[in-house]
Amino acid sequence: MVIDLIYFCLINFNNNNFMKQKYYVNNNAQSNGDHEIHVDTCYYFPMMHNRTYLGEFETCQEAVREAKKRYEKSNGCVDCCWLCHTS
Ligand SMILES: [Zn+2]
Repeated sequence: MVIDLIYFCLINFNNNNFMKQKYYVNNNAQSNGDHEIHVDTCYYFPMMHNRTYLGEFETCQEAVREAKKRYEKSNGCVDCCWLCHTS
């Protein structure tokens, strides 16, 4: 199971290298104070007035770096950016 997870992780990582995705940060903090980062295809994508466009990035790590200029507590969405989800 752990092996499967790592394998999936690598596949996902490789796919992300092929194309840039548009990343957004939620302007509303979660209950733990985190501002979640999403791609525009995410099921949990925030409403237009609740999100700020970060830019196009190849990896969610780059998106997190950009988001942290705006919100110190930024974190990847568990659904679309789970490689960058830390809490
Ligand atoms: Zn998301």
